[in-house]
Amino acid sequence: MVTRDIKQKTEDLRKKLHHWNHAYYVLDNPEVDDAVYDAAMRELIEIEKKYPELITPDSPSRRIGTEPVSDFKKVTHRTPLYSLDNALNFEELEDWEEKIFRVLGERTKIDYVCEMKIDGLAIALTYKDGILILGATRGDGDIGEDISNNIKTIRSVPLILNKPVFGLLEIRGEVFMPIESFEKLNKDQKEKEEKIFANPRNAAAGSVRQYDSKITASRDLDMFVYAGIWDKAPKTHWESLELLKDLGFKVNKTSKLCHGLKEVKDFCNVWYEKKHELSYAIDGIVVKVNDLSLHEELGFTAKSPRWAIAYKYPPQVAKTKVLSIICDVGRTGTLTPVANLEPVLLAGSVVKRASLHNQDTINKLDVREEDIVTVRKAGEIIPEVVSVDKKKRNHKNPPYKLPAKCPVCNSKVEREEEESAVRCTNVSCPGQIQRRIEHWCSRDAMDIDGVGESLIKQLLKNKLIEDPVDLYFLKQEQFEELERMAEKSAQNAITSIQNSKERSLDRLIYAFGIRHVGKTIAELLTTRFHSIEELSKTTPEELTEIGGIGPKIAQSIIDFFKTGASRELINKIKRAQIKSQAKQIKIKDSKLAGKTLVITGILESMTRTKAEELIKNLGGRAASSVSKNTDYLVAGTDPGSKLKKAKDLGISVLSEQEFLGLIK
Ligand code: NAD
Repeated sequence: MVTRDIKQKTEDLRKKLHHWNHAYYVLDNPEVDDAVYDAAMRELIEIEKKYPELITPDSPSRRIGTEPVSDFKKVTHRTPLYSLDNALNFEELEDWEEKIFRVLGERTKIDYVCEMKIDGLAIALTYKDGILILGATRGDGDIGEDISNNIKTIRSVPLILNKPVFGLLEIRGEVFMPIESFEKLNKDQKEKEEKIFANPRNAAAGSVRQYDSKITASRDLDMFVYAGIWDKAPKTHWESLELLKDLGFKVNKTSKLCHGLKEVKDFCNVWYEKKHELSYAIDGIVVKVNDLSLHEELGFTAKSPRWAIAYKYPPQVAKTKVLSIICDVGRTGTLTPVANLEPVLLAGSVVKRASLHNQDTINKLDVREEDIVTVRKAGEIIPEVVSVDKKKRNHKNPPYKLPAKCPVCNSKVEREEEESAVRCTNVSCPGQIQRRIEHWCSRDAMDIDGVGESLIKQLLKNKLIEDPVDLYFLKQEQFEELERMAEKSAQNAITSIQNSKERSLDRLIYAFGIRHVGKTIAELLTTRFHSIEELSKTTPEELTEIGGIGPKIAQSIIDFFKTGASRELINKIKRAQIKSQAKQIKIKDSKLAGKTLVITGILESMTRTKAEELIKNLGGRAASSVSKNTDYLVAGTDPGSKLKKAKDLGISVLSEQEFLGLIK
């Protein structure tokens, strides 16, 4: 009998899962760890199995993803995109095979294809007469979003097939972001104080669902294709993969044809050990029945095919104890709470510290000193604490609160509206200065080898430096006077400091550590400004004219150069003879250098003014009318008479996508 408690439990689980689905699929910003989500989903499925009368058609257990709620055009998939059932261990894999035997009515050795379960998002591509006409997200399986313009920026997606295929051809695959690019993106996002992606899947999903294709193009995305919906289907899935390769798609080379479940298990074991060798993240292995005629026989459940299953690897987590919670002061004054952990082995390395991000995260987790916590590793900013084992709490420590004063200089701290970060308000805070100098010397900035955290600490303590540019005036003897500083190390430090005077302007701009100005923005700035003085005198209008720079970044740059301390720094840079120049080479290398371009029609990814600005920034000329001196005409939708004129004069006409390709 269904009790009121069970009914209530079912409703609670559904409400929670709907909410988490929205955060995960629509906002690309999961609120809980996958393991927490999966446990709740399994609990719901168990209840529904026991009490089928409780099943409703809109239960999250019966629905794939969630319906798209973006402004992208909706597309109805001609064939639905399914999810996959999961097996968490080999027993569940064997159960799955048992079910197959039951449907087939016979027990026979089956051939399976094992493929990596890429941590990305499913995309459907449609080709008409061999030409890509549509790229769509999975959405709720039936209705997805038309993200064709963004998909076309992914280089491994063929716009035209290698061989003629007449009529419509639908292709399925996974768009993903390689681990290295994911880590770099998160680092950039952190610097710009923008959203950090929880995992490569969210980063890929967030990148393909951008309204500005230029942003998608700037993110390093890739796509593996794993299925085609053929008019005349080959006999096996393996042959289907071969066919996809021949047509020009990128098919994962690690896929393997396995005879029987034993070989499948071996494959799963081998790749569990080797998965760190891959350049992309996987969360398991997808096992598919090879014989396509069996696919027809086996069919589908409400959510997934019976002929495939995802064998999921356990998440990379470990349990350990929080020894203490301390507060780190960053170069922009942000107070970051950090948990000092009892050292624990995680994904091949020992973890001793984990970021707790900010007060909101601490409150959400309710993490306290001496708690037993689960930590996870995923990308640059992590290891992070993902949950607290409250049952194991056997202390009376109070909830952790960020200090009301800066832990280094005791100044007032402030929380800006709509931001979760709390900041020390004193720009001369020794904690901030230390981090600013460390940032200046870091590899991506001025790359001063041998001048690290402890040396900078000593230099500050001995009052030999007050800001990063003071480093350039130091003498070898001053280094040698420091504790544990041998003559050779002092010499090396001096050489590295002097060598750094030659770094490019984008590195110098980045080295300043201006809020919201990461490496990418610094590079963009050098397309317009050729010295730090020029940049320091700029206006917000001039800055926002540069594609990719919005009012928030512009204001931050203006505010930075307004201060007396910055002006003093610029003067010192001159005296120190730091020669950083804009990378003129970039412009020389640009395919637009010296070319004259005319734009006609409506561009989807940017305004015409922005496009003209970009052309200028890349050394080209943006003209308003077509003449025999025009090199390219960029034709958006609804082009005007300029298109005819260009054709008459035999001038190269570029589509918007081709233009985006040139400015990448
Ligand atoms: P899934 O990720 O378990 O499996 C289906 C997907 O696998 C396909 O849609 C496809 O995108 C992908 N895939 C990767 N490689 C493939 C290959 N070689 N062949 C075929 N498909 C391949 O299912 P799902 O419906 O996409 O997502 C459900 C999972 O997402 C949950 O189990 C959970 O872990 C996670 N999730 C988490 C939250 C959260 O809040 N943390 C919320 C919703 C979903």
